[in-house]
Amino acid sequence: GGVLPTSHVLDELKLSDADNTLGGLLADLSEFDSNSCASRAQHLQRKTKFKPSQELVQRLRRYEAQHRKCASRAKDFGQPKSGSRVHDSEAPEEECRYVVWIAYSGLGNRLMTLVSAFLYALLTNRILLVDRSSDMSKLFCEPIPRTSWLVPSEITVEFVQGLNESSPQRFRHGSSTAGDNSSTAEFSYVHLTHTSDSGDEMFFCDSGQQQLDTKPWLFIKSNSYTVPGLFFITQFRADLSVLFPDKEAVFHLLGRYLFHPSDAVWGWITRFHKSYLAHHDQQVGIQIRTFDDSPLPYFLEQIQECVEQHELLPKVVKNVDSIRRSEELQLQNLQASEKDITVLVTSLHPYYYENLRDVYLSGPTEGGESVSVHQPSHEGWQKTNTFGHDLKAWADIYLLSLSDVLLTSGWSTFGYSAQALAGVSPWILPRSTDGQVPNPVCVKARSMEPCFHRPPLLKCKIPEGANPATILPYVQPCEDVKWGIKLI
Ligand code: GDP
Repeated sequence: GGVLPTSHVLDELKLSDADNTLGGLLADLSEFDSNSCASRAQHLQRKTKFKPSQELVQRLRRYEAQHRKCASRAKDFGQPKSGSRVHDSEAPEEECRYVVWIAYSGLGNRLMTLVSAFLYALLTNRILLVDRSSDMSKLFCEPIPRTSWLVPSEITVEFVQGLNESSPQRFRHGSSTAGDNSSTAEFSYVHLTHTSDSGDEMFFCDSGQQQLDTKPWLFIKSNSYTVPGLFFITQFRADLSVLFPDKEAVFHLLGRYLFHPSDAVWGWITRFHKSYLAHHDQQVGIQIRTFDDSPLPYFLEQIQECVEQHELLPKVVKNVDSIRRSEELQLQNLQASEKDITVLVTSLHPYYYENLRDVYLSGPTEGGESVSVHQPSHEGWQKTNTFGHDLKAWADIYLLSLSDVLLTSGWSTFGYSAQALAGVSPWILPRSTDGQVPNPVCVKARSMEPCFHRPPLLKCKIPEGANPATILPYVQPCEDVKWGIKLI
C-alpha cells in the first residue's frame, strides 16, 4: 500500500542489509507469512557494525524450530501427564520447557524484560511465551516464523496476571512441603522487581539455577534489564561469550531480532518519517523523560548546555548585527551550508520541543546549516495499556532509534531501548537531585547497553557490599544509576 517508501527515499533510509535478514539474524523472509509484517521487509534501521556471531545465528534457528514444536504443546500446561497419550510406537518426545513473560510496567521496561527473558530462554533451552494481558500483540509482529509467541488462550490471563509475591509457587519462598498437586509442582514464579528480596535474587546464583532447572515452566515478572546479571551465573558465562563476542551488542541484536512494529504502528512511523525526517544529512534524537508531571525549565537548559558544550548541534547567531551579516553572506551564497539537520524530540510535554524549535527560528546558524525540530506526539502523562498511547510510545522509540546522535534521559528505559536498537552510545542527561542543572550536564555513555538498575547483591559470589563490577571487567557501573551495572 501507500506505506512503501519510494526508491529515492529508500536510498536515504540507510537500509541495514540488502539481504533483509540483518546478516542472518532474522530467518529468511520467505519463512514468514507474506504480507504479515511490513516493518520486517522494509526496516528503516541504521546500518549496524555489530553482526551476529555464527553461533548466535545457529542458536536462533534452533530456537525457532524448538518454538514451533513446543508452542503447540503449551496448552497442556497444568494437565496431568498421562502416558496413554503417547503411542507405543512413538519414541518418547523430548520435553518442552517454557519461560512465560508477564507484562508489567511501561513499554521501555517491557522491552528490557522481554530481551532478558528471551536470552534466558536461549541459554536454558526453553521457549519464551508472552502474556496476552496487554496490547503486545497489537504493537509487535510475531517474531518467530510460522508460530506464535503468545501464551495459548487455554492458560488464562487471570492466571498469569494473578501470580504475585504471595503466590505459593514463588521461587525460594513458597512452601516446598508436600501437598503440591501436579499443576503447581511443575512451575515456579520468579519475582525480579524493585520488591525482590535476597531469596528471589538467588535466581542469579548457580544453586538457584539448578533448582529452577527442575521446573518445566517458569513465569517471570520483572521490570529490570537483568541481562548483565546472567553473566554472573557460571553455567551461562562461556555460552554467553561465544554467542556475544561484542558484549555491548546483546540488546542491540536481540532487540532487532524480536521487535518489529505491527502494521498499525508501522504506518504511523513511516508516514511521520517520510513527512518530517527522511530528507536530512543528520538526525539528532533528544529523548526527554523527567519523571515529573510538569515541564522543567532547568532540564531545557541542561539540554541546551549539553548540545553546546559537545557541539552536537550548530550554534545560532544571536547578535542582531551578526544575524544581518550572516544573512547577507548567505544571500550571496558565500557561506551557505547545504547541510540539513533534523532534530527529533520525544517527550510527554510539548514545552521542550517548542523552545528548541524557537531557538533555531530565532536566528541563522553560524555555518548556515538548516535545523528543523519535530516531535511526533505529546501525550501529557503515561497511559500504559491504552493502544493509541502505546502505539505512539513504540513509534517514538523506533523513530529515535533512527538517529545518528542521541541524547537520552538518565534512568529511563524508554531511552535505553532507543539507543540499543539504534546501536548508538548516547549522551546521557543525568537526573538532577536538587532541581538545578547538574554538573556535568551530560556524559557520553561507554556503551549502548541498558543499565540493570537493581543488580542482585550476589551473596553467592562476592562479599556483601562489594561492587559486582570488580568481578567481570565487562560489567561496569552505569553512568546514570550509580549502583546499577551494565555491559560495556
Ligand atoms: P521509563 O519509565 O522512562 O523507564 O520508560 P517506560 O517506557 O517503561 O515507561 C514510561 C511510559 O510513559 C512509556 O512507555 C510511555 O507510555 C510514556 N512515555 C514516556 N516518555 C514518552 C515519550 O517521550 N513519548 C511517548 N509517546 N510516551 C512516553
